[in-house]
Amino acid sequence: MKVLLVYPEFPDTYWSFRYALSFEGKKAAFPPLGLMTIASMLPASWERRLVDLNVRELKTSDLEWADIVFASAMIIQKDSLHQVVARCKSLGKRIVVGGPYITTSSADLPEVDHIFIGEAETTLPEFLRDLEHGTAKRIYQAEERPSLALTPVPDFQLADLKSYSAMSIQYSRGCPFQCEFCDIIEIYGRRPRTKTNEQVLAELEALYHAHWRGMVMIVDDNFIGNKPNVKRLLPALIDWSEAHHFPFSFVTEASVNLADDEELLEGMRQAGFRRVFLGIETPVEESLKEAQKLQNTRHSLLDSVRKIQHYGMEVMAGFIVGFDNDPEDIFERQIRFIRESAIPLAMVGLLNALPDTQLWRRLKREGRLVMETTGNNTDASLNFIPKMDATRLVEGYKRILQNIYSPAEYYQRVLDCLKFVVQDKVEPRGRNLLRDAITLGHIMFTLGIRDRARREFWRFFRRVTAMHRKDFAHAITLAAMGYHFRKLTDTYCN
Ligand code: SF4
Repeated sequence: MKVLLVYPEFPDTYWSFRYALSFEGKKAAFPPLGLMTIASMLPASWERRLVDLNVRELKTSDLEWADIVFASAMIIQKDSLHQVVARCKSLGKRIVVGGPYITTSSADLPEVDHIFIGEAETTLPEFLRDLEHGTAKRIYQAEERPSLALTPVPDFQLADLKSYSAMSIQYSRGCPFQCEFCDIIEIYGRRPRTKTNEQVLAELEALYHAHWRGMVMIVDDNFIGNKPNVKRLLPALIDWSEAHHFPFSFVTEASVNLADDEELLEGMRQAGFRRVFLGIETPVEESLKEAQKLQNTRHSLLDSVRKIQHYGMEVMAGFIVGFDNDPEDIFERQIRFIRESAIPLAMVGLLNALPDTQLWRRLKREGRLVMETTGNNTDASLNFIPKMDATRLVEGYKRILQNIYSPAEYYQRVLDCLKFVVQDKVEPRGRNLLRDAITLGHIMFTLGIRDRARREFWRFFRRVTAMHRKDFAHAITLAAMGYHFRKLTDTYCN
């Protein structure tokens, strides 16, 4: 059997980092971890190929080669997924789909042969047995959320690692909190399940032997959802990293209560965590209460950010406007918070009701849902009737983006961030210095010569070399990422 695994294309969003990736000659931020995991669960005798549409186009010859096609998608990839499905059907290929989009919107794909709703660890083996007996069903719905002990090491070799700027692994699924707008808790539940230490180390070992060096994203929606298990993992991670001379730096997502736990913070610092994404959402307490994000109301959010930065982790964060309780001055308050917290990579989005979330159900009850979400909360589209006048909300939202990604504001935040975030100087081993030099040349040429904001860049550059020379690489990387945010902001706001 020949299986083709296809990952649909993402539109350009802040998360795509497309403009920044081009500097280092990369095509996408992360490889398709879900499909690589599925690949490891298929019979050893099956031939398998992967096409990530974010890296290269899907050729007709790819489809013709395959006996069966597997695709997985998030909501934001749905347009591309529909195109893949149409092409498969036009060639008479059997297609199997799964992933978060399908789990909440399976009715959207009537022409698909087999649908996986929920996680596939228990349903995929059942499907494979049925397929062999010629009795494969159309829908496989996971009865329960599986133990992650069943999850194999992803087949990292399937992807062209050189095309990606970071690798990804997953440690846990689920989150104990109950934010109203969140679909993670609907899909993966509120009892976080984790892999064992041995599983995580086996995945790192696999990446190491695939010659990956550099950033590894732990893609959990809340890495610290199961704190006791994380505290057992971190010492093992530190030992592994030391024994391998720190080949990786880690990035992950965590809830703000990370700041309350010094043992976790210290463990993460020692293990090589360099950036943490926090769901801050808003500095307005009433809006946080409305969103049931009570974990963000217990301490000063600014103090929490500062504490995490103090442990050598750059804070990246998500912000939302459009809550019912947002006051008239919400836009200025968000701008002020982002400035004071020194968060360079601030992902500000309009509130969106994702399918089957508590928010979606409430807005439906209230008769305020107007359309399906695009899954892109930064494209200035609203899928519900907000309390604030919609035009004013969208204009205010764009004003935030234009402000925080203006060159002067952004470069100042990077400089402030470098002041607060003191990182251990452990350079990942095995870096390609020539490639780094070429990347630096591209960034300097674009930001320092071609860009209309070159004067701000050179002012920033002088201050970095005068005050933060040891953080030069980090500063230049952030400058490149800021360029991406600014280019997209220009697209969205003009
Ligand atoms: S903390 Fe994050 S992952 Fe957890 S429920 Fe809230 S939004 Fe979802």
